[in-house]
Amino acid sequence: MVRSDKETKRWFKAEASKEPEKYYATAVLKKHGFMRKRCSCGTWFWTVNKGQEHCGDASCSGGFTLFENNPSKKRMDYITVWREFSKMFSRKGYAVVRRYPVVARWNPTMDFTIASIAAFQPYVVSGEVEPPTKRLVIPQFCLRFGDVDNVGVTMSHMTGFVMIGQHAFVSQQEWDQERFFQDILDWLTDGLGLPYGEISFHEDAWAGGGNFGPCMEYFSRGVELGNQVYMLFEQDDSSRGYRELKLKVLDMGMGHERNAWFSQGKGTIYDATFPTVIKKLKEITDISYDEDLMHRYIPYAAFLNLDEVEDIDEAWSRVAKKVGVSVEILRTKIGPMTAIYSIAEHARSLLFALTDGGLPGNVGGGYNLRAIFRRAQSFIEEYGWEDKVRISDVARWHAEDLKPLFPELLNDIGDVEKILTVELKKHQENKKRAAAVIQNTLKRGKADAETLIRLYDEQGISPELVKGEAKRLGIGVDIPDNFYALVAERHEKAEQKTQSRRETKLSLGDVPKTNILYYDSYDYVDFESPVMKVIEGDKVILERTAFYPTSGGQENDTGTLDKILVTDVFKQDGVIVHVLKEKVHWKQGKMVQGKIDIGRREQLAQHHTTAHIINGAARKVLGNHVWQAGAAKTLEKGRLDITHYDAVTEEEIRKIEEEANRIVHLNLPVKKNVEQKNLAEAEHGFRLYQGGAVPGKDIRVVEIPGFDVEACGGTHLNTTGEAGLIRILRSTKVQDGVIRIEYVAGDAAQRVVREKRKELDDLMSFLGVKEESFIPAKAESVFELWKWLRKSTKKNGALTLDGFEEVKKKLESHLVPFDGEPLAETGRRLQTQPQHILNTLKKFAKEIEGMKGKS
Ligand SMILES: [Zn+2]
Ligand SMILES: [Zn+2]
Repeated sequence: MVRSDKETKRWFKAEASKEPEKYYATAVLKKHGFMRKRCSCGTWFWTVNKGQEHCGDASCSGGFTLFENNPSKKRMDYITVWREFSKMFSRKGYAVVRRYPVVARWNPTMDFTIASIAAFQPYVVSGEVEPPTKRLVIPQFCLRFGDVDNVGVTMSHMTGFVMIGQHAFVSQQEWDQERFFQDILDWLTDGLGLPYGEISFHEDAWAGGGNFGPCMEYFSRGVELGNQVYMLFEQDDSSRGYRELKLKVLDMGMGHERNAWFSQGKGTIYDATFPTVIKKLKEITDISYDEDLMHRYIPYAAFLNLDEVEDIDEAWSRVAKKVGVSVEILRTKIGPMTAIYSIAEHARSLLFALTDGGLPGNVGGGYNLRAIFRRAQSFIEEYGWEDKVRISDVARWHAEDLKPLFPELLNDIGDVEKILTVELKKHQENKKRAAAVIQNTLKRGKADAETLIRLYDEQGISPELVKGEAKRLGIGVDIPDNFYALVAERHEKAEQKTQSRRETKLSLGDVPKTNILYYDSYDYVDFESPVMKVIEGDKVILERTAFYPTSGGQENDTGTLDKILVTDVFKQDGVIVHVLKEKVHWKQGKMVQGKIDIGRREQLAQHHTTAHIINGAARKVLGNHVWQAGAAKTLEKGRLDITHYDAVTEEEIRKIEEEANRIVHLNLPVKKNVEQKNLAEAEHGFRLYQGGAVPGKDIRVVEIPGFDVEACGGTHLNTTGEAGLIRILRSTKVQDGVIRIEYVAGDAAQRVVREKRKELDDLMSFLGVKEESFIPAKAESVFELWKWLRKSTKKNGALTLDGFEEVKKKLESHLVPFDGEPLAETGRRLQTQPQHILNTLKKFAKEIEGMKGKS
């Protein structure tokens, strides 16, 4: 029987509570005087308080009460929480590990790191990859966008937060649940300074991705402080339905911000986390801050959680009643603080995401980054703070504050500021364009939620903009309180749809994985191997092969097997399949001779190595935010898509080409090594994953020392010099935030150079100029003459050649040479593509002759 994760969780929670001694650290709890009780909600919980009847969850105990004589005996600011925590756990024998990037390039299942354990998913947790160390703690910055509309309203929600992780990856023999539990209990009592009487533990269960186990949640004053999960089992098809995991995983996650908030016992989570940023924002916006009202509001703010309330208007009036003011007054007074908290919170999330290589955009994770930028900017505009508040400044303040914890944020702040400035410019241009679109939409009828979502999604027009424009026209617009969550939901669905598209698979039977020969050297092109299997007469599987299958954006090799043409090569589940031009009757075990088309192989290798070189050059010229977004290498040319927040200028493209050719001239080695994944990550960082996540324990690392290093399975040159020559053909913006660079290398580049030479020579002879630099001016004079002739014909109603010779002489008398690329410039002056220049000129000349002939 296979249960869903949700079913497993419910089933196992009941099972584990039947035998608590077996699944929870009950000995430790009893030692400290905790008693086991059952709450009316059904949960078994532990407390030292004889009279305590509820489990401690806010919904059972009646709300957060941390503000009345705060139970925490230690007052810690944000930075101190991690200092103290890591010091304590380091003494206890845990390694203190640096955070992983919040853009989760190593993980194929998510755009952003959403929990501390996600840093080790999926391959460490699955046992495929060695953990960095057996026991560790980590301050992992995470991003989650599901609650974005709650930010600044409930006073406890964030899109970006640090999850403090306590993790262990050990065998059954080394598993010591009591110790793990005692360690976290020590933090609560000695670290946070909570008396036992202020802590409640819940018996619970966790399930995810087919794994499951018991877990202990801990609460104080209605606030969930953390959860210690023990991943012990995995589902299987045995009669029992599950088995023990070989590698047992401890996954304790605890909110860093919540710890700081709890410890300080006042204000909002934002005041506890970034007090100096909030102070600066209050000062420069000069808002009136009703301290007393805020104080009364905060304890009830959690009731406005859009995730939990059915009727948000009803919830507002309930809270207003508790606070003792009308809904209108409450909303007007809370509004500016919601704005300030949201601006500060979103700037912090953007700072981390952009530092780690994310970019605002219209698809994937970039989409969420753009959404929070626009939400923050909408607040700035709503309150008229355009001259006072810049999100890029707020990001810098955060980087300065967080320097003791995350110094990398300040190192790359220049890049982050540039990206945010360009994003602001895009937003403003969009706003201008938006006014017309909105007016048209409103003319056609009322803007309902569906229309608002469509306008945002397809045109990037925020609902606040629509509302503002509608107000000017005297039309009312209701924005759903969970607007951004609704949009995100729509995206998740769209993305799932595109992911579920699969090609039909060949049924392989139980052939072993093919041994790969193409990793060693690109010029290894003759080999022999026994046949393992022939499917459908023309699909051959060998024991080993040097044929490269289409993958990683590189086209497959062609060649022959025993002189029969190989037309296609692909890989399925580690097995390489050769498709032959004709059917064969080969028996298993027959030796065949493989021969690869070396010309094609070499050109593909040149184009692939060049992709790595251009990627490195683009990073050098444009900045550290550049990542590969896609690539393809064919015989004719290569293309590399890179992330960049702005358009690329001709000058920048020229610099990238120059830098690429400099690397070719340096003739650097292109090193290819298969390395253990965890070691490679430690040595080279996550820059490795330019092409996305790579499964498996070992990865192949392709390194141009000191310049570029990527995890890549392609066929590569042995030195950069073998690329011969690199020419960038063109660059185009394929979507917001992604630039496509098309290029050629080696023979293909020589061919392009020759063709261009010929084009120039043809043009020079056609125009009768002796130097390239005169092509643009002379071509333009032909264009001008043609225009003059047409105009004068029109004006006179009939063709007159009066003055023709004078005009021609005048146009050709002072031709100014052009210093730069003549073809592009000529194309610009003639308003045509460079490849059409000669034909365009010939057309002009013919028409001029024709007109003259008529006169
Ligand atoms: Zn309860
Ligand atoms: Zn590659």
